[in-house]
Formats: sequence, C-alpha cells, structure tokens
Amino acid sequence: MDIKKDLQEILTKRCKRELKDCTTEEVYYGLLELTQKLCAQRPAAKGERKLYYFSAEFLMGKLLSNNLLALGIFDQVSAILSEAGHDLSLVEEVEPEPSLGNGGLGRLAACFLDSIAALGLQGDGVGLNYHYGLFRQKFESNKQKELPNPWIEKESWLIPTGVTFKVPFGFGTVDAVLWDIAIPGAHSGVANKLHLFDTKLTAPAPEVGIDFDKTDVESHLTAFLYPDDSDDNGRLLRVYQQYFMVSAGAQLILKELEERGYKPEELCQHVAIQINDTHPSLIIPELTRLLLERGLTMDQALHQVAHACAYTNHTILAEALEKWPMSFLRKVAPQLESIIRELDRRAKLVFPNPQLAIIDENDTVHMARMDIHYGYSVNGVAALHTEILMRNELKPFADVYKEKFNNKTNGITLRRWLEACNPRLANLLDECVGPEWRKDASRLDRFTSFCGDGQVLAQMYEIKRANKIDLSNTFSRMGISVDPYSVYDIQVKRLHEYKRQQMNALYVIQKYLDIKEGKFPSQPITVIFGAKAAPAYTMAKHIIHLILCLRQLIENDPIVRPWLRVVMVENYNVSWAEKLIPACDISEQISLASKEASGTGNMKFMANGAVTLGTMDGANVEIAQLVGHENIYTFGASSNQVIEMYAKYSYHAEDYYNRPAIRRLVDFILSPTMFAIGDENSLRALWYDLTTKDWFKALLDVEEYIRVRDQAIFDYGNRSGWVKKMMINTARSGFFSSDRTISQYNRDIWHL
Ligand SMILES: *Cc1c(COP(=O)(O)O)cnc(C)c1O
Repeated sequence: MDIKKDLQEILTKRCKRELKDCTTEEVYYGLLELTQKLCAQRPAAKGERKLYYFSAEFLMGKLLSNNLLALGIFDQVSAILSEAGHDLSLVEEVEPEPSLGNGGLGRLAACFLDSIAALGLQGDGVGLNYHYGLFRQKFESNKQKELPNPWIEKESWLIPTGVTFKVPFGFGTVDAVLWDIAIPGAHSGVANKLHLFDTKLTAPAPEVGIDFDKTDVESHLTAFLYPDDSDDNGRLLRVYQQYFMVSAGAQLILKELEERGYKPEELCQHVAIQINDTHPSLIIPELTRLLLERGLTMDQALHQVAHACAYTNHTILAEALEKWPMSFLRKVAPQLESIIRELDRRAKLVFPNPQLAIIDENDTVHMARMDIHYGYSVNGVAALHTEILMRNELKPFADVYKEKFNNKTNGITLRRWLEACNPRLANLLDECVGPEWRKDASRLDRFTSFCGDGQVLAQMYEIKRANKIDLSNTFSRMGISVDPYSVYDIQVKRLHEYKRQQMNALYVIQKYLDIKEGKFPSQPITVIFGAKAAPAYTMAKHIIHLILCLRQLIENDPIVRPWLRVVMVENYNVSWAEKLIPACDISEQISLASKEASGTGNMKFMANGAVTLGTMDGANVEIAQLVGHENIYTFGASSNQVIEMYAKYSYHAEDYYNRPAIRRLVDFILSPTMFAIGDENSLRALWYDLTTKDWFKALLDVEEYIRVRDQAIFDYGNRSGWVKKMMINTARSGFFSSDRTISQYNRDIWHL
C-alpha cells in the first residue's frame, strides 16, 4: 500500500494538482476519500453473537485523525503532508465536527464504538442522523444564543447504503434511510459501523434560532437532537424519534440475522442489544411485535427479547428517568399499545408491587422499568452509582432481580484522549513505559516508578507548559489573552445545577473580592468554563449569564486581571475538549455527591496529568482510590449525607446564606457592580434560587470547596511535588481505558 501514491491519485482525479499545490480544503477532502477507501477494504469483525449498541447520541468528534490512527497511518500521512508543505492539524480544521450528541452519554457511546472495534468485537452502533445537532452556542450580551449546527456536507463520513425500512407511525408510514459511518479498529484490522437512520427529506435549518413547527413530524424528525420538550408537541416529537430509531434498528437486526443464516427464534443466541439509557427502550415492544409478525408466539418472542436486551442506567436524577403517557405512545405507534399492556400485565402477575409496574395508575409507561423486567442485565456506570441504584432508586428491582444488576465503570478511549490530543505526553510515555501502553493501558502504571526521576519530572513539567502555551495561542487567535504561567483551572461539561458551575462562580467572586481588598491568591489563576445549557433550562442560562458577567467585570479591571482571569469558551464540544484537557492543571469535578453517575471528563483530565478537585461522587471515588488522597483534592458532603438530607428535607439554603462568609459572595450577585454589567432580572432570579432553594446544595459545600481549592492552588507552587501528582494521575488512569470497560461488558453481558 503506497499511501503517497494513492493520495496523489485521488487528488489528481479530484483537482488535477500536485499535493504541494493543493489548498488545505482539497487536501482534507482527498484524505477523507482515501480514509473511506481504506476503511471499506477492512473486514467487519466476526463472532457468534453480534452487538447492537442503541443510543440517541453518539458524540463522535472529528474523525480524520482518529481514523488515521486506527488505520495505523497517522505518522505516515503526517509526514507526507509536511513534506509537501501542509500541516495535518490545519487540514483537520476543515472538518466539521458531527453534531450527533450532547454530553457524556453520547461521548461514552463514541468511546465504546472505538474500543469495540479495537478489540475486534462484532458490534455496531445504532442511532439517528440529526442534521442540525443539539445547537451551536453563541454568546451575545453575556447570554447564550442557540443556532442550528449543520454538519452534513456533500462529502462527509456518511456512507449511503441504499437500505431503507418502513416505520409505521400512527399517521402513516415514514421511510427510514440507513447511512453508515465506518469505525475502524486500532490494532485489530477490522472496521465496524455506526448505523444512522434518517428520513428522506429534512426541512432546511430555521433562519433564526432553533424553533420549528414540531407538528410537521416527518420533515423535522431528524432535524435536531432533543427538540425542546417544554411543550407536548416537543415531547411527542421525541417519542417519534425514539420509535423511528428502534423500529428501523429492529428491522436491521432481523435483516442481518437472516443474512447470517439464522432464524428469528434463534435471535438471542446471535444478537445482543445494549440500551444506552432509556431513549431506545421501545426496542423491547417493537422487537417483540416484529417477532410476532414472523410467527413466534408471545412466549417465544418475549424469551428472545428478554435474552437479547440489556440496559445501562445513566442517572438517578428523577426528572431524567423517562416516562411517557400511553396516549403519546398510542398516537406515535398505536400497534405497540397492546404489546406494552401485555408486558405490563405479565410483570404485574409476578410482581404486584406498584413500584415495579411498567404502566402506573395514571396510564404512564415507565421506560426503565420495562427495561429491567425485559432485559437480562442492568448496569450502572460507576461503583458508587450502581450501589446507589441498588440501595435507593431501583431498590425494589434490585431486591427481586439481584442477579441482573452489575456495575461497569465507564471508560474513555485513550487513543483519542491521550494519544491523539496529547502527542507530547504520549511520546514521553513511549520512552518510559514502552509503546505497548497504546494497546494495553494497564502498562501506564509503570510510569509511577519514574516519579523520582528528575529528568522525567522536568519533561512532564515542560509538556504541560507547552500544552498550556498552545492553548494560550489558540485563545489569543480569538482575541483572548491568558497568562500561560497561571494555574489553568478548568470546568467543562454540560451546564447543570447538579454539576455546580454556580459554586465555581462563587469561588471566582471570592477571589475577586479578596483581590480588591488586597489579598492576592498564591498563584495567578485562569478559570476556564465551557458549557451548553439546554435551551429550555432557565436556571442554567442564568448561571451562564453570571459567569459571562464575571468574565467581563474582571477583564476590565486592571488590578484583578493579572491575578484572576475567567474564560468561557463558546460552543464547547469534543474539539474544544481535545485542546483544553491536555493543558489543564486543576480538573473541576464538583457535582453534588450522589448526582453524577460517573463522569468521564474526570477520566480524560486525569490521563492528561491534571489533578482532580472534586467531590466523592461518581467515578471520582474510584479515581481517589487509584491515586491516593495525596494526589487528589476532595471535599464536600458525602453521598450518604446528601441522600439523607433529601429524604429528611433537612437542608435549608437560608441557614448557609446567613453565614457572613457565604452571604458576602452570594449578595455580590445583586451588587451595583454586577447590575451595571448584567441583566438584573436574570441575576435576581439566580440569587433568589440560591438563597431560598439551592436544590443542589452549592451553599452547603462552598466554604470547604473554597478552602480546598485554595490549598490546591497553593500546592501548585511546589513544582516537583505537583509534577509528581500529575505523573501519578497519568500512571493510574489505565483503569479508565474504555478497552477495559468493553472487555467487562463482553465478559459479563454480551458474550460476543
Ligand atoms: C467527555 C465529554 C463530556 C462529559 O463530561 P463530564 O465532565 O463527564 O460531564 C461532555 N462533553 C464533551 C464534549 C466531552 O468530551
């Protein structure tokens, strides 16, 4: 295989030019074609059983570099380009990031596809081909504006398959057109697929904002991910999307089963279906329906379905556990009603406890309950999360289905989140532990023994410094100046009150007020945020407004600015994450204990040598166990304390607001200084919520948070001590490789 010759041939055909004379765009599309060709030459993974990973989101990130790495030709292509005067990282800038996901859930699905292919396992993703994504975020007047985020171009990673299925909605049949994205596996030689279903015609993007006619179902079905669900039409559209995805997906499963030479009554021996959160749960009644159509009895169909489907729970936030009125389901897919009622009837026969009912007394269908009754595995995504599920949220189920419950602590693909995004550190690891860590992440542990090696310590320090300078250069190209010698303290993740960006903002206020009083921090600090707020989530938008106002305030204050900067990146996404994470010193993972199921951002930061400042929540607990208490900063109420406070309604925000140290921070939100910058109504609404409700208890933990964060920033000044912490974090991050997670899924659940 002569990559250089192949690429030149493609370019000659496309634009009749030598590589060295091509524009960056021409090089990108040439490489896209070449990569697609190489992926197409790879065989699919083989096995007895085939996995279908159903997810409403796949937050893939850009694919060019990742695919070149997986194909094993990244260095070669990079060299061929440089020789011709091109720079692969600039070429990659041409690629639009697919907007098929929102946050951690979708990114997890993407990491899993990467690992499944790398381990040579037979498993494909199934989802929807959203045209305009969640939304593209812009800031105007210190507020979030939402715009469509179109990403599909004439040439893209989407491969037309010519396959369509008919999805029977209540109002009529809609064609589901199948597109594929190739998922080449690193080291395995195979390529799996991400299957994305789309309608034939999607309406053009709205001209202003992201509003559209939600009653025109067919032309908007795959327009946006999570259409605004603050009204019934929006909520209905979500059910349409979900049914569209699983009906077409179930038909694909049966088609492939037949092509592999098996009968529908052999389905569960040859098919595993992972239901990623409850969005794809309708696969259970839909697959049952299709098996009945193919002549199976109800008993036979349910046996197959219940031995094929497995469910992953991602949240204990009650408002996120989906339930749909039967009237919605009847409208979207009337043919499912009798099946869901039968599923419910059978479950109630065995378990009369109403807490276990699929259909409750209001004729509402509880998706997670259906998944647990008719799935053979239920897993949480971190040890603490699974424990809380079994002890609290899903206790009635864990009591009767103990054997179904298991934990699979989330992971990240180190190929994207270390190898690709932090080549400097990857090279140092090659020197220290050998390049085998790229295949076997547990080898990273050997890096521990270099903690006493002065030369390696110096290299580690230099790598972080170089990454920080890269990031400050990225910022300065956007007109933002930051001091690369300051501590980079980063919180990037979806905006949610439970994640407590508002608590981070209170720290910023504390530092601001202290500096104004002449008390300077032990190091200059750059506080970096990145977060999208769901369009209908008002409180989240108030928090963004507060952060942006603080940014403006500090930016215009020549006394404060040398000591404290606030940056909030616009439109936080995977590409941003890949730039921010390698440059981070302190990783903010400050969710209210018990609320963050796992987190995966925390793992990415850890691998890149950031030190975690976090609560004992989600996978932070496992990070703390792995690195030891001297290499992590923890604070805050424990999950047990928090759970008890909720049960007893014993937390009262006023009690904490009345403490002078806290009141000083919170009341600053209502100061004339802030009103001069921001929207008084928005600031007042946030202040009022914090001082009277504070559902996620920011004021409970804020004092200890400030103390521990100050300590971390102080410790940062002890350079060799800090670099050792960084190294231990990288060394112990091997456990969080998604290759480990996927091996466990395969060993315990999928048996591919
Ligand atoms: C990893 C990732 C997330 C998840 O971050 P958490 O801190 O675990 O919530 C969200 N968005 C993007 C772009 C990511 O890469």
